[in-house]
This record gives sequence, C-alpha cells and structure tokens, in this order.
Amino acid sequence: MTARILVVDDIPANVKLLEARLLAEYFEVLTASNGPDAIEACENAKIDVVLLDVMMPGMDGFEVCRRLKSDPATSHIPVVMVTALDQVADRIRGLEAGADDFLTKPVNDLQLMTRVKSLVRLKSLTDELRLRASTTRNIGIEELLSRTNPDLFSRPRVLLVDEQPASFRRVVQMLADAADVDVGTDPHAALFQAAENAYDAVIISSRFADFDPLRLCSQLRSVDRTRLLPIILMVEAGDDARIIRGLELGINDYLVRPVDKHELLARLDTQVRRKRYNDHLRASVAQTIEMAVTDGLTGLHNRRYLDNHLQTLFDRAVARKRPLSVVMTDLDRFKSINDTYGHDAGDLVLREFARRLRKNVRGIDLACRYGGEEFIVIMPDTDGDIAEMVAERIRAQIAQTPFSLGEGKPDLEVTVSVGVSSLRRGADNPQNLMKRADVALYEAKTGGRNRVVAAAA
Ligand code: GH3
Ligand code: MG
Ligand code: MG
Repeated sequence: MTARILVVDDIPANVKLLEARLLAEYFEVLTASNGPDAIEACENAKIDVVLLDVMMPGMDGFEVCRRLKSDPATSHIPVVMVTALDQVADRIRGLEAGADDFLTKPVNDLQLMTRVKSLVRLKSLTDELRLRASTTRNIGIEELLSRTNPDLFSRPRVLLVDEQPASFRRVVQMLADAADVDVGTDPHAALFQAAENAYDAVIISSRFADFDPLRLCSQLRSVDRTRLLPIILMVEAGDDARIIRGLELGINDYLVRPVDKHELLARLDTQVRRKRYNDHLRASVAQTIEMAVTDGLTGLHNRRYLDNHLQTLFDRAVARKRPLSVVMTDLDRFKSINDTYGHDAGDLVLREFARRLRKNVRGIDLACRYGGEEFIVIMPDTDGDIAEMVAERIRAQIAQTPFSLGEGKPDLEVTVSVGVSSLRRGADNPQNLMKRADVALYEAKTGGRNRVVAAAA
C-alpha cells in the first residue's frame, strides 16, 4: 500500500522522526511546519493522510483541522492529530474539530502504522467513489452530492456484539443519548442480524467464551451486505496482536478497555459520518449512471442504453434459440403538432405516448426513446406474429383515444406508424435487425401512416 502522507509539526526533529518511520514503510512523505502551509499542501498536493501536530504557534492543529474539514475540497482527507498531551479532553477537542484519529507523543510505532494504513484504505475507497462520481458526468462533486438529501445526521443504528452483560450494559448506557443500540449476544446469529438490518456500525467485543471474534469480522467483510459496514473492535489493553490481525481483516477502528465514553462516542461518530458520506456518494454515482441511460422527458431508456444493450439481448436470443423482435415507432406529422400547439404541447404528447407505450409492453421488454418522436421496443422471447399484434394494439390505442393537452385546450388526434422486424435464423445481426424495422417503418409512412408494417421473416 503506497500513499502520500503530510507530516505537520513546527519542530523539525519531530518531523524528521515521523518522516523516517513512514519512509521505512515506503510511504511518500511531504512536510509542513505551520498551519497555512499544511492547508495549502492539502489543497494542491493530493494528500492521502495528514499527521497534524496540535501545538503550533500561530494557527494550532485544531484550527487547521477545522478548516480542512469545512472546505469541501479537503474535507475527505483523513486527519490524525498528534498530541503531546495524553488528555481525553484534548482528544475529544480534536475529534470534534473533525479529526479522524489521534496519536499521542511519543508516537507508538504500531499505532502509527495501523492508524495510517486503515485511514489510507478508507481514503482510497472514497477516492474511487469521488472519481467515479465526477467522471460519470463532468459535474462537480458538490453538485452531485446536493442532488439528493444526505441523511448524515440522524441517530445512528448500532449493533453491539458482546455476550457479557456487565460489559454490554456499560456500553449501551454510554451510547444511550447518541445511538439506537441492538445487542447481539450470539456471535453466530450476529452475522445474519447485521446483514438483515440497516446498521451504521457494529461494535464487536473481543471477549467470548467460545468464539473468535475475528471470525465474525472476516465474515462481515466477505458478505456483500455488510462488506462496507464499519466495524469497531473492543479489545483488552495490550492485545496488540489482535488489533493488527483485525486491521488486516478490515476492521475500521478499535477501542481499548476500559472504554472511555467520549472516545467511544467520537470514534463511533467518525465511522458513521464516513459511512454515510460514502453511502451517499455511492447512491449519487448510481443515480448519475441511471440518468445517463434514461431519457429525461419520458423516463424511458435512451438511445445510448439501447445501443449498448441490444447486442446482449441479441446474443442471448441466439444462444438460447429464442425469438426476438423489434418494434420501431414514429409519430405521424409530429412537427405540425409542435408548429400548431407549441413545443410544450409536443412534449406532453411525447410523455403521454411513452406512458401508453409502457402500458402495452411487458416488464422484460426494453422500451426506449430512440430520438425525438421515435420510440423502439425490443421484445425478447417474442416472434414476429406476436410483435405485430402488440404493435397493432399500440397503434390502435394511440389513434383511438385523443391526447389531452390540458384544461381549456382541444384534445388532439395523434397517430403513429410502426415497423416490426424479427430475428432471422442463420446469419443475422443487431444492425440488420434494426435496419429491417426501419425499412418497414418507412413503408408504413409511405403507405399512408397510422399503420403497422412487418418486415418479411
Ligand atoms: P412523419 O410523419 O414523416 O414522421 O412527420 P414528422 O413531422 O413526425 O417528422 P419529422 O422528423 O419531420 O419531425 C419530427 C419533429 O419532432 C421535429 C422536431 O422538432 C420534433 N421533436 C423532436 N424532439 C422533440 C422533443 O423532445 N419535444 C418536442 N416537442 N418536439 C420534438
Ligand atoms: Mg414523425
Ligand atoms: Mg421522425
């Protein structure tokens, strides 16, 4: 794992020390000796993790962190606060400033490496999502994120897996004001419980009489539904080996007993925020992809989708020796609707046409808007005769019921011409299949419109 780490400290010897350790692990290291330089580096140098000293003259670490976290351009960069004071109040202050983690000087090697590595791992996931989000449609990430309402602040749901009543009662009590907690005392059942519920995080005790909790961690990572669920392991002081093993298995964080309430709350909050940010990003990416293959006016698939998917449907039909038909429709004299009643009226007609079209085809049929007033339905498992029947039904339902343009406006008689083609045994391909439907449609137009023509089988 390689990553670019920014070390920020006003004392050169401290910088050198951390730099040397990180270089030994093959990380790339950049350094800064004050807050403003650190912020500038984060804005410009593609930093993966920041190790940030708290006590600096001028702008202190808390302030640097707050600024990084409040700027959308840098808020996703994980920040580890490095403090000389082993005081809970300071740690809490750091985490409240938005820090993702903290280390106490003198920095313990194990902690340094595990924290940095797990943050780098999380960061690369977020980066991947950010990249996908911004390249799917050259739009800014903030615009993308603002499109749906992120649920970043509601009360988190937490699964606590712990079989010892004295221990889980204590944790439940600490979380009483902050989260809804379900306790799972059976670690075997906990896997299913985690998969079946929408938890924001799971906290797993390392103390079971007859079960290795790391097994549960690894299972949670391998099941699709829980793969991205944050895991916080609750371990005994000094159990470094288990922490290392856990981090290798993909746990997100750990707490050392006796668990401190503020630390628990802050760590949970960090995990939940990060998960929700990533969930939100992921949903936005999915939505963007969906938008890229959907026609905005009618909600049907667009031409891009059809062009990509037709080959698949075609290959599948050939492989299974099943029929496949194409119904190609084009509204008649549509230009005159626009010319007479205006473009908005034209849009209404297109929407209503799409609605009727959708109502007349099956779920497995692929209905798309292919161009302006041209629509295509690909019908798997459908031979030419059936497709022709469906086409005729569509034609009739368009012609028989006039289109409403709204209150106070005349209803509009609309007709459609339709061409139908079907997969031929032997040599055929998607392009020819489409071409034959197009030729049939042209025949329907020249033959007088408002009719269905099927290409010869
Ligand atoms: P034909 O019977 O030969 O198909 O005649 P037509 O007028 O339907 O054919 P033509 O291709 O000449 O005109 C299609 C019109 O569809 C022209 C274009 O302005 C209009 N159009 C294309 N996309 C849209 C749209 O999204 N909304 C509206 N309102 N009109 C559109
Ligand atoms: Mg037309
Ligand atoms: Mg046309």
